[in-house]
Amino acid sequence: MKARTDLIVIGGGLHGLSAALQSARRGLRVVLLEGAFTGRHASGATAAGVRSLNRAVEELPLSLEAQAQWEDMTTLVGDDCGFHAGGQVQVAMDADAEARIKARIARLEALGMHHECWIGPDRLAELVPVMQPGALGAAYVARDGSADPHRTIRAFRAACLDTGVEILENHTVTWLAREETRWTVVAGGITHVAPTVVNAAGAWGRQIAKLAGDPLDVGIKNSMMIVTERCEPCLGPVISAQNRKLSFKQTADGTFLIGGGVQGRLRPGGGSASVDFGALSGAMSTTLALFPWVADLRLVRAWAGMEAATADLLPVIGPSRRAPGLIHVFGFSGHGFQLVPSVGRVIADLAETGRTRTELSAFDPGRLATNRKAA
Ligand SMILES: Cc1cc2nc3c(=O)[nH]c(=O)nc-3n(C[C@H](O)[C@H](O)[C@H](O)COP(=O)(O)OP(=O)(O)OC[C@H]3O[C@@H](n4cnc5c(N)ncnc54)[C@H](O)[C@@H]3O)c2cc1C
Repeated sequence: MKARTDLIVIGGGLHGLSAALQSARRGLRVVLLEGAFTGRHASGATAAGVRSLNRAVEELPLSLEAQAQWEDMTTLVGDDCGFHAGGQVQVAMDADAEARIKARIARLEALGMHHECWIGPDRLAELVPVMQPGALGAAYVARDGSADPHRTIRAFRAACLDTGVEILENHTVTWLAREETRWTVVAGGITHVAPTVVNAAGAWGRQIAKLAGDPLDVGIKNSMMIVTERCEPCLGPVISAQNRKLSFKQTADGTFLIGGGVQGRLRPGGGSASVDFGALSGAMSTTLALFPWVADLRLVRAWAGMEAATADLLPVIGPSRRAPGLIHVFGFSGHGFQLVPSVGRVIADLAETGRTRTELSAFDPGRLATNRKAA
């Protein structure tokens, strides 16, 4: 028995959910196949920073579109997803960092992008009074902030179901093949048939690409996070530092989240990531230099999440060059949360019409194509 539909989305992380939702809103019949449960991997492990600050220039059109969508998230999914525009700050701790930030802001201005600005030490102290004095200044984006990742997953999932997306959890895709003008996809003992497949399988995106006959050279990241006990609200913006691994924020419930791309380990078998305590303690040094009082807080939990990462740290977004009807959307390399609403719009464009107004050449899957034949 074959289940026929218009679009099959593989992967129930936020990118799969957003692509499914926005495609269904265009009138497509959509089936989403998730091997575990929605939000099981990177989307459930994320720090949920909503950041245009310090993005690659290639990502900025999508990022600035997403910034406006986050401010109006209720329109898209019926909930604000806990988004709070407390701003994002990238601190310059030395002269080299200051020069790099100022050069970047000048480049953005020359490109007509004015979302980042330089703030001096006095303004920085006003914005972040709980930070140790001594920083030379910072880059600042007032409209950035953060959201609640689990609320975001719940909202996108509920909106998908309301829009008629069929979500099948515990349905791991084990086989797919193109036959004439259609894809046949096998998951959980059911065979699905559709003209178009979206590969939103996150860290397993390269396996799906290989199964589909389009092997791509993509690696894996295992970023780690620490969460502290709850405290009185005292930190508005999300803090990072130029040239250092740091991401520091206070959540709505008062806990502090510490991350910044420090890497954990892939567990044997490659199915999940685990914490590397040695690397984690190294990650604390920048946090403690700027916020020494964190040393007195109890650490409640640490975790690591898996995600696909490319050599140029840009995602893979767009139609496969070798497998007609296959659209890739993975490889967000540790910074895909903010892009969820705008990238979903792009995938819906491609699924509906085969075209999009958005320039995708920097994200072209073809740049990562390997010559190996599919297994
Ligand atoms: C610790 C950490 C902190 C982060 N912090 C930030 C941040 O502050 N800001 C930011 O912008 N980004 C951040 N990111 C990145 C962001 O979370 C990710 O880019 C984003 O969640 C990726 O979503 P996704 O849907 O592509 O992948 P995922 O959420 O990993 O979803 C992929 C899904 O595919 C499923 N799947 C895999 N194989 C199959 C198969 N064969 N069949 C069916 N289903 C399959 C998986 O089970 C999984 O649920 C962070 C990531 C991590 C790990």
